[in-house]
Parts: sequence; structure tokens; C-alpha cells
Amino acid sequence: MTAPKPKDWIMAIAPYVPGRSTTDSGAPVAKLSSNENPLGTSPEAQAAFSKHVGDLSRYPDASAAELRAALAAYHDLDPARIIYGTGSDEVLHLAAGAYAGPGDEVIFVRYGFSVYEIATRRVGAHPVVAPDKDHATDVDAILACVTERTRIVFIANPNNPTGTYAPRGEILRLHANLPSDVMLVIDQAYSEYLMPEEDDGGLDLARHAPNVIVTRTFSKIHGLAAERIGWGYGSAEAVAAMHRIRAPFCITTAGQQAAIAALGATDFIEHSRAHNIKWRTWLAGEIAKLGNAGLRVVPSHANFLLVLFEGALTAEVAYHQLMERGIIVRWLPGQGLANGLRMTIGTEAETRTLVEALRAIVADAV
Ligand SMILES: *Cc1c(COP(=O)(O)O)cnc(C)c1O
Repeated sequence: MTAPKPKDWIMAIAPYVPGRSTTDSGAPVAKLSSNENPLGTSPEAQAAFSKHVGDLSRYPDASAAELRAALAAYHDLDPARIIYGTGSDEVLHLAAGAYAGPGDEVIFVRYGFSVYEIATRRVGAHPVVAPDKDHATDVDAILACVTERTRIVFIANPNNPTGTYAPRGEILRLHANLPSDVMLVIDQAYSEYLMPEEDDGGLDLARHAPNVIVTRTFSKIHGLAAERIGWGYGSAEAVAAMHRIRAPFCITTAGQQAAIAALGATDFIEHSRAHNIKWRTWLAGEIAKLGNAGLRVVPSHANFLLVLFEGALTAEVAYHQLMERGIIVRWLPGQGLANGLRMTIGTEAETRTLVEALRAIVADAV
């Protein structure tokens, strides 16, 4: 007897490995593995969420009309051109599903977000990896990968897991040089951590260019990762295509309301951004002071640092020793970064604990 056989392209997917939540021995001292907001969730979003415990029996608003109206007002967008999903992960899958299939090519950068490869293979398309420029996005390398079969280019800006950032001029140059039938998906999961003057112009491009989709999330600065709320902006045609394959009731009732309230939590957002910049700068400086241990910080615009281990102390050893001290960071051998650890910027206490632990581990190693 023969058993049903999964598609070859599905079995070619390396399963997504999430950041760990517990240490080998139990509860963590600091979970710095998934780029969540260490300050939690705004009081406004929590209050909105908790109002909906009586609404559990009804399906949520499938059209997310109130959330789209709030996003449109906040970002000056057309609400009809906003797509949404169970996390921006779903929106990335929708873009792949609408625009790529067997025989097509999808480009993303080496050390890019791991979901791009999963989304590409899931639809039977062929992943094409563009070389990086010292871990950062290299627009010329991406353009050199374009062929007649290219259907999508995925880029995260700032990028995860590197934290690197391509300025507006580079994004515009990438778009200007792509064929008009290639969809450029700009994943802005970390854009709220940028200063306003660092805006990469992605939303502006998506307002006018039919071949640009921007994706955003409530999982990062807004502190709503548990609720799985993402959205995107594209042409009316792109959004209509993605709606056809979207899960019908993809954001919960309480989640939609929490997200609307989160947009209005201006103090919380500004405080989170300022906290992140302050402690990211401090952490990078302290790691630099560890002297000739061979640790190198990749300059970051996001809420984490990628630290490369280029001396005798390996990332793998440091990862396990941090784990023994209750600190969970992300080691990424599956993404070609066996020599790197990605560390989320935590609370002040978590960040200080991390530095003390690194200092001790480096001292032990030399
Ligand atoms: C965290 C992250 C996402 C968003 O994930 P959600 O599904 O919205 O929680 C998207 N892209 C990148 C690059 C990320 O790091």
C-alpha cells in the first residue's frame, strides 16, 4: 500500500525554530531570544483587550474594519488597501501565495528573515539567496540575482537577525531598478524603532507603486506578540489577491481592539523606542569593552544586537554558558550564523545581567 505523499517542496522546508522560552534547568532569568518588547504592553492596549472577555462566542469582524480605519488614520493610508493577518508572518505568506508558484524565483538576502524561505518553498517556488555586504543588505547583489523568473523580492528593513538597515536612497534604488512585474515586499517589523528621519520610504512607495507591499506588525514595539496581529499595504489589486487566500477570521476580537488602542499609546511607544536606543547603545559599548576576546557587534537599528564571535570563545559555547546562567539568547546555526548570537535588548536589569554574564564567560575563556 502506498501512503499519501506530501509535496516535495513542502518536505524541502527546514522547520522554523522559534526562540526558546525556558532554559535547560527551568525558568529563565532573562528571555532575550524573540525580540519582544521588554517593557510589556501599553496600559491602553491591555485595557482594551480585557474589555472583550464577554465576546468569546462570536466570530471577530472578518473585515477588521475598525482596525483598518485606525491604521489608515494613523499612517494616512487608504483603508481599502490594507491587508491583515495572523501576525505579519501570515501577510508574508499571502504575498508569496498570490505572486509566486512552481517554476518561479523569489529573492531574499543571506542572513534574512527565515520565514521568507519557508513562504517561498511552501508555494513551490525556488528561493534565490543574494549575498550580503558584511551582513547588511546589498542592493546591487539583489539586482544581480533578478532573472525573467523572479516574481518577488523580500527584504526586512531593519533586517532580522542582523539589525542592519538600508537607507531610503537604497530602497528607492532597489525599486527603481527592479522590473515592474516583480513584487517588492518590504518587511518593516522593526520600523517603529527607527527615528522618524530614518524612515525608509517604504510606505510612500507602496502608496504609489503597484509592485510594492509593505508589512508591519503589532508583535514588536506594541508588545502584542501573543495576539498575532500583522498588516500590510499594497495596491488595490494586490490586496484583493491576498484576501482570496487569507484565513477568514484571522485576527481575534480582543486583538483587533488591543491593536487600535496600541496605536494611541504614544507615550508607551516613545518610551519603548528611547529605552531601546539607550540600552542598545550601552550594550554595544560594553561588549566592545570586552577587549580582544573577538566579539564584534554588527551595527543595529532594531531592538536586538547580532554579536559575532571571531576569537577563541565560540558563539555555541557562549550560548550554552549564558543559558546556564538563565539568559536565553538566539544562536542561529540554521541560518548560516553559527558564529553569531542575537540578543534582544531587555529591561535595564536584564541588560546589565547579560553584560555581567558575558564578562565572566569571556574572562573564563581567556
Ligand atoms: C518578528 C518579525 C516579524 C513579525 O512577526 P509577526 O508574525 O507579526 O509576529 C516579521 N518580520 C520580521 C523580520 C520579524 O523579525
